[in-house]
Amino acid sequence: MNFQLTQEQEMLVEAVRSFVAKELLPHEEAVDRADAVSPELAAQIRGKAIAAGFYAFNMPEEVGGGGLDYLSQALIERELSKVSWALHVFVARPSKILMACKDEQINDYLLPCVQGEKTDCFALTEPGAGSDANAIKTRAVRQGDDFVINGSKHFISHAGHADFAIVFAVTDTYEHNGRKRNAVTAFLVDRGTMGMTIRRGPKCVSNRGYHTYELFFDDCRVPASKVLGEVGKGWEVANAWLTAGRVMVAANCVGQAQRALDLSLQWAADRKQFGQAIGSYQGVSFKLADMATQIRAAEMLTLHTAWKMDQGSMTDGEAGMAKLFASEVLGKVADEAVQIFGGMGLMDEGPVERIWRNARIERIWEGTSEIQRHIIARELLRPLLR
Ligand SMILES: Cc1cc2nc3c(=O)[nH]c(=O)nc-3n(C[C@H](O)[C@H](O)[C@H](O)COP(=O)(O)OP(=O)(O)OC[C@H]3O[C@@H](n4cnc5c(N)ncnc54)[C@H](O)[C@@H]3O)c2cc1C
Repeated sequence: MNFQLTQEQEMLVEAVRSFVAKELLPHEEAVDRADAVSPELAAQIRGKAIAAGFYAFNMPEEVGGGGLDYLSQALIERELSKVSWALHVFVARPSKILMACKDEQINDYLLPCVQGEKTDCFALTEPGAGSDANAIKTRAVRQGDDFVINGSKHFISHAGHADFAIVFAVTDTYEHNGRKRNAVTAFLVDRGTMGMTIRRGPKCVSNRGYHTYELFFDDCRVPASKVLGEVGKGWEVANAWLTAGRVMVAANCVGQAQRALDLSLQWAADRKQFGQAIGSYQGVSFKLADMATQIRAAEMLTLHTAWKMDQGSMTDGEAGMAKLFASEVLGKVADEAVQIFGGMGLMDEGPVERIWRNARIERIWEGTSEIQRHIIARELLRPLLR
């Protein structure tokens, strides 16, 4: 791997960094306090992101997206995450699984999402099926030219303002190694479709202003033309994208951790106790050294993994390692930042307690730390276990 960024990548990082500082960060405190992003602010961010060329940077050029390689995407994610998810979510990265759109789905869903005219949400998790996604109970039964969906989802991010949901439902079962498995299909379900109700979920301590929703399906009828990909092949459309998403979460964690370190360094230099800057005491300076070292390691691992994805050689275990390590480093770094700030680190007048709260979600969503360890261990042991 060449560790030197290209001039284009350096310019991209600089442009995103200044976009975050100018367009997003000034709103963070107010959004966090209000636990809401106004529709006007959301539209403003979306418009400015489109004008700046950042919108849908994760999507291929042939559909009008940024067409960036994974390493460049990870660099952008690192910069965007220096502000709460509640805000940078409006610099949208449409679900890449929309690339499975075909026929009229391309004009109805894929292209409008890339152009900022529509937004999607990804509806997989259910009250009884989180880590064990294969245990979903939402069912879709074929009736003539339609499928009829029944069941419920929860924790579905920004379903409240999405124009449609990508809904995963069981359409069949089959035997695999003596165990019953679900054949799962992905559906494109428009907001307002009869039989689908959307309700705001419980408040979350991380990323206030970024909301999750519950979705209820009660004989919700969708035409077969709304199947995304093939019937029974829902995991095939979802998995490749979910794995890549873990590397992007790792990049998000690196950015948040770097922000916590930058704030801590400044505080350690400015805050005086016993007549000296607290950073001059080894008890504090060694924390800073450890934070910086851990962040560097997480960053190298993440960028190397993104680079491997570009080479087509990344494994699921490697994506898991990046997500696991970077999210755990973020947890430690955010906690140490609070310690360095002392009492001020817990007050809602500064960003540190926000970073600390926001960090917590990263070890849970997109596959918990425990699930990443399963993926890594399975890959390590697979060739040895017969
Ligand atoms: C803010 C937020 C936004 C989200 N957005 C979305 C979204 O947009 N779309 C969507 O589909 N989902 C979304 N999710 C769901 C998220 O992906 C799940 O929360 C996550 O996969 C974990 O599932 P769970 O919360 O049900 O925990 P559980 O699966 O119940 O796990 C609970 C604990 O048990 C551990 N555990 C479970 N199984 C094992 C095992 N085999 N071995 C060891 N430990 C185990 C877990 O690691 C965890 O520590 C979101 C969640 C949150 C909180």
